[in-house]
Amino acid sequence: MNILVLNCGSSSVKFQIIDTSLEQIETNTDKCLARGVLERVGSHSLITLQGGDQKKIKQDAPLRDHRAAIDFILRWIISPGSNIHQIQSLSDVHAVGHRVVHGGEKFSRSVRINEEIISGVEDCIELAPLHNPANLKGISAVTELLGEAVPQVAVFDTSFHSTMPESSYLYGLPYPLYRRYKIRRYGFHGTSHRYIAYRYRREHDLKLQQVNIISLHLGNGCSACAVRKGESFDTSMGFTPLEGLVMGTRPGDIDASILDFLHHKEGLSFGEIDTMLNRRSGLLGISGLTNDMRELLEEEAENQDRRAKLAIDIFCRRVRKYIGSYFVEMAGKVDALVFTGGIGENSPVIRERISAGLESIGLNLDKRKNNKTSGGESACISKESSTLKAFVFPTNEELLIARDTVRVVENATRRW
Ligand code: ADP
Repeated sequence: MNILVLNCGSSSVKFQIIDTSLEQIETNTDKCLARGVLERVGSHSLITLQGGDQKKIKQDAPLRDHRAAIDFILRWIISPGSNIHQIQSLSDVHAVGHRVVHGGEKFSRSVRINEEIISGVEDCIELAPLHNPANLKGISAVTELLGEAVPQVAVFDTSFHSTMPESSYLYGLPYPLYRRYKIRRYGFHGTSHRYIAYRYRREHDLKLQQVNIISLHLGNGCSACAVRKGESFDTSMGFTPLEGLVMGTRPGDIDASILDFLHHKEGLSFGEIDTMLNRRSGLLGISGLTNDMRELLEEEAENQDRRAKLAIDIFCRRVRKYIGSYFVEMAGKVDALVFTGGIGENSPVIRERISAGLESIGLNLDKRKNNKTSGGESACISKESSTLKAFVFPTNEELLIARDTVRVVENATRRW
């Protein structure tokens, strides 16, 4: 089946076309036919497109909204220029899989979209006011452009974490707040952590229950996940993606009293504080320079910038703190750390700095292998003698979205 995978953000649309089926999932022979990113949707958009193994094409076009962006994608897919031989007309797009950010407590697995599901996703808007509306726009645009008959499936960022026990997901707040408003930790990046757990299982030929790892998704957004017996047992993001690790522009864990203090001291409204926490904190806030880890590493190396170094040190220390806490929570039964995301996949220096001191829990990094691994490669980067292994696996959320779409459409029960 040719599956269109859509990831609609507030002002961007990312897509892939993936050829997959139940048999291809079993034999791991799914194939990405095309991919692209449309940025600045809502004004003059920047578009990057790539058919199969061809070179990337960059262009721009005015795209008013998500519907216009998806219309653009569909026209390109069937145009000769895209070179997707398997797709000649829109009827060759067999189903659409959507990344949906927040599924609340309602959705613990991927589901076929119908009116009831749409209203369930709408109910979760108050939990993800920036993301879920964009996902819903993507769903309605596809219905309009491809028709009701083309199945659409929602794959939630939160659902992998639905296995977390109460003791992981409840805050130390008055319990009625959970009952009344569902204030709890949900966790995000679930499809990425699920992919990492799947990749680990596949590489080692294990059963699901044998996967005991700590997955580290380090990109612009960052989160750690304790995967115990193949399931999410704990994760660092919480009620929203603000909690946990230090990220590109978010602080991760902070003392909640800072908000009220700032409100009084600087006269900031809660909306302004929210913007500061989501857009001006983290690596950017500490360094005062950039949220881009590559640039920070350059500043540190070339100009010995003190605050760039500080930002990197705080970032790495927070990751180590979570690794240590998950290691203890899992009673030391952790077989591997797995790095993924833009930083995790591409930065040997950061992986080495995170690993410093982890010899005490059995990690013995192989510096040569670590230094060699970047740019989308998969590798084991720990020494033979290491009792806690370390791996780098490039994440592939789109693949799992396409596979879930096929499984849901075909009514298959297996999740992996
Ligand atoms: P997003 O979370 O937006 O998907 P990515 O997973 O693409 O982001 O990660 C972006 C981050 O990865 C940026 O901080 C970027 O600097 C960092 N990154 C990419 N390549 C490298 C590299 N070679 N060294 C260090 N950091 C890198």
